[in-house]
Amino acid sequence: MSSFKALVATKGEIGPNLAFTDFAEADLMEGDVTVRVTHSTVNYKDGLAITGKAPVIRRWPMIPGIDFSGRVETSGHPDFKPGDLVILDGWGTGETHLGAYAQKSRVNGDWLVPLPAGMTPADAMAIGTAGYTAMLCVLALEKHGLKPADGPVVVTGAAGGVGSVAIALLAKAGWHVIASTGRAEEADYLKGLGAAEIIDRNELSNPGKPLAKERWIAGVDAVGSHTLANLLAMTRYGGAVAACGLAQGMDLPASVAPFILRGVSLLGVDSVMCPKPRRLEAWARLASDLDRDKLAAMTSTIPLESVIETGKAIVEGKVRGRVVVEVG
Ligand code: NDP
Repeated sequence: MSSFKALVATKGEIGPNLAFTDFAEADLMEGDVTVRVTHSTVNYKDGLAITGKAPVIRRWPMIPGIDFSGRVETSGHPDFKPGDLVILDGWGTGETHLGAYAQKSRVNGDWLVPLPAGMTPADAMAIGTAGYTAMLCVLALEKHGLKPADGPVVVTGAAGGVGSVAIALLAKAGWHVIASTGRAEEADYLKGLGAAEIIDRNELSNPGKPLAKERWIAGVDAVGSHTLANLLAMTRYGGAVAACGLAQGMDLPASVAPFILRGVSLLGVDSVMCPKPRRLEAWARLASDLDRDKLAAMTSTIPLESVIETGKAIVEGKVRGRVVVEVG
């Protein structure tokens, strides 16, 4: 394969110009491992890149797509040999390094995680960066010392990718999960994943008080802005919120009151530059803890050609759960 199919973004006046083209292997960027990409996914960040709603792409031309799974073709890295199945999340892929919406990718082998035993490449991208980030949030709450017996946990952006995986993981671990969603029609879906209670996201999305009635001991927030501020204001004494997202906004109009009067902690979660040992821990826990039937229930599958329309839909909040992209 001296050339292969890829979605290429070039700089446009308003947002990127996108076209499926034959991409020459010789034009791939530097790296010691070349991977035959079999699956990718559409995360919120992919939607931002495709629509140009945020400056995710910082090198032109770019192949978008922040994560993939696939099979190693060639390797100069001691940890990988041809035929190995691997996962890549982040490290600037699809931002500054040619990304996942292509049949091949050449990357630094240090960025790759071996596919956990018992997981298929399609499973890995059904989880994707959104699911791996949900796992990082759960790990952050656990490392803070919080347990299901301490009280309920709230999950915002519940019907989205991070939210859906977080609900499944937390429910399996025994937490009483309160799911916050703007899609009341998805109540049965969220209960199927393990949510014990559903609340309307409007309860959290408007400006609130510095401190409010204590409702939960823990939170996973994919939304930011007033929602995160209210989550903190409603967290019980000694609790914590793991914050990973900005679906409502990047701002945080909060006060220090929850921190200094209730000992509440805000735990920041980043998936892109997350060190390798934490990634390996997260993927091992996903392999053992995430119920495959629930993963199947939250996942739909699209061909590579559909990533542009799905990218637009995800930033409009119209995608439920997770989307696997068959790269083919
Ligand atoms: P999704 O679009 O799948 O989920 C986001 C959900 O947020 C939506 O489904 C919706 O849930 C809710 N939502 C959307 N718009 C608004 C709004 N205006 N106000 C309140 N809620 C809203 O995205 P992902 O799950 O892929 O990502 C979620 C967030 O996490 C994104 O901001 C993404 O950038 C971030 N992220 C961060 C990572 C990191 O490394 N820190 C890694 C991965 C993701 P509902 O319909 O249920 O209300």
